[in-house]
Amino acid sequence: MADRRPVIAGNWKMFKTVHEAEDYAVKFLDEVKDVTDIDIVLCAPFTALSALKNELEESIVHLGAQNMAWADQGAYTGEISAQMLLDVACTYVILGHSERREMFGETDEEIARKVQQALRAGLTPILCCGENLSLREEGKAVERVQGQVTRALAGLSADELSRIIIAYEPIWAIGTGKTASSKDAQEMCASIRATLTERMGMAAEKVPILYGGSVKAENIAELMTEPDVDGALVGGASLDPLQFAKLIKNAG
Ligand code: PEP
Repeated sequence: MADRRPVIAGNWKMFKTVHEAEDYAVKFLDEVKDVTDIDIVLCAPFTALSALKNELEESIVHLGAQNMAWADQGAYTGEISAQMLLDVACTYVILGHSERREMFGETDEEIARKVQQALRAGLTPILCCGENLSLREEGKAVERVQGQVTRALAGLSADELSRIIIAYEPIWAIGTGKTASSKDAQEMCASIRATLTERMGMAAEKVPILYGGSVKAENIAELMTEPDVDGALVGGASLDPLQFAKLIKNAG
């Protein structure tokens, strides 16, 4: 990894009530309070964000959401705006997760609007990209991922691009127990960085690129040895505070 600060973000998906989130925060903070060399983010369900704001205030743990609307406000039943996320102290937002693309039909164009909206509001988007198994087997993984990144970042200035985080998450590795090899993760993260370099030149060296897909305390250290892997987006292994804290410590 070059001169980039590692980022480890937990994605709780649709797990944890308010009470469970509060309980988690107390245990987790106690475990990670001495971590200084990694940016830690918890991306919780909308309903838990307000409680987590209180628990995590003035701590080293940042708060993130898992999705967001592309509109400012208005008649968008069921949506949550960037301002609402800022109001509960969110500073990060996951956008374009494969579960949102696959199950809720989110397109690259909608994701691009969300990325722009997040940046306008001052939130850091964690833009997810990744190929499915058949594309990987057909040798089209790089083409798919580069296309997703290019379309999601269309129209952004170099300054805006410098405020994003990318998470490469091969769909076949999410929640399956199959991790991409660290070599596969490196190859794709390097190709994403090459795509960014075409847009923003050497400033692409500053953009954190994370790997996600069955990352655990046992495999994070090897992934982190790769030069273009700057951290991880972690689903299942972020649900237990002690397990997630161990993963973070193993990443450092
Ligand atoms: C994710 O949800 O972004 C993810 C990578 O999940 P898991 O770590 O469970 O594969």
